[in-house]
Amino acid sequence: MTQIVQMQGMNKYFGTLHVLKEIDLTVEAGEVVVVIGASGSGKSTLIRCVNGLEEFESGKLVVDGNELAPKSGNPKALAEIRKEVGMVFQQFNLFPHLTVKKNIMLAPRKVKDAPETVANATAERLLNRVGIGSQADKFPSQLSGGQQQRVAIARALAMEPRLMLFDEPTSALDPEMIGEVLDVMRELAKEGMTMMVVTHEMGFAREVADRVIYIHEGQIVEEGKPADVFDNPQNERTQAFLSRVL
Ligand code: ADP
Ligand code: MG
Repeated sequence: MTQIVQMQGMNKYFGTLHVLKEIDLTVEAGEVVVVIGASGSGKSTLIRCVNGLEEFESGKLVVDGNELAPKSGNPKALAEIRKEVGMVFQQFNLFPHLTVKKNIMLAPRKVKDAPETVANATAERLLNRVGIGSQADKFPSQLSGGQQQRVAIARALAMEPRLMLFDEPTSALDPEMIGEVLDVMRELAKEGMTMMVVTHEMGFAREVADRVIYIHEGQIVEEGKPADVFDNPQNERTQAFLSRVL
């Protein structure tokens, strides 16, 4: 098995606040890992560390063979990781002044120097894949939230990522649009994409995750197969959390 993410004894502080505590976590190629936990427990910080959006203070982090040193001590690895890891945020973060298609073409053009025709064909293929081929020439503000998030996923996929990170991708959506975004993620998982997903959608976690990780105050206190974590949680913190959200 190929390890795509390897974290060992990772610690992260914001000032004096110890946000991630001795995190040990590996993600194998093709695995879908869902991260759950209360607000403020460190879920976003954890996955932001994986693509170098946050520095960490100590421990080891290797992403697809690139080792990030603590305190961003390795700019070359960071540049590689940024190319190989796609990220989808709660707020879609599309470029408002670019059409949907141009949003998707931008990174391949700039970062990978892809020819215009190639980037264009990739964008059209990906837009069809996420079910919005007909919206290519619109601007983000002309799309629904669910459509914008699907564009954001297509944009991340345009870089042919080895790993996709999702940070509460449906939390900003109206309820009727959550399903269409989860459907795209479910397809991606089926096709073998390696994924780390922070979500409160427990139905999705149960169905799609290979492994569920529960974080409490910056520590992984429980992890396992979804059926085990949801139906038979061992840690009392996990039990309390699940009794609130299920
Ligand atoms: P979650 O995603 O689980 O809600 P976060 O990873 O966003 O949690 O935050 C974990 C903790 O770190 C919280 O106490 C939060 O207030 C704090 N935190 C997050 N980002 C910052 C920051 N940029 N500066 C200072 N504290 C932060
Ligand atoms: Mg968060």
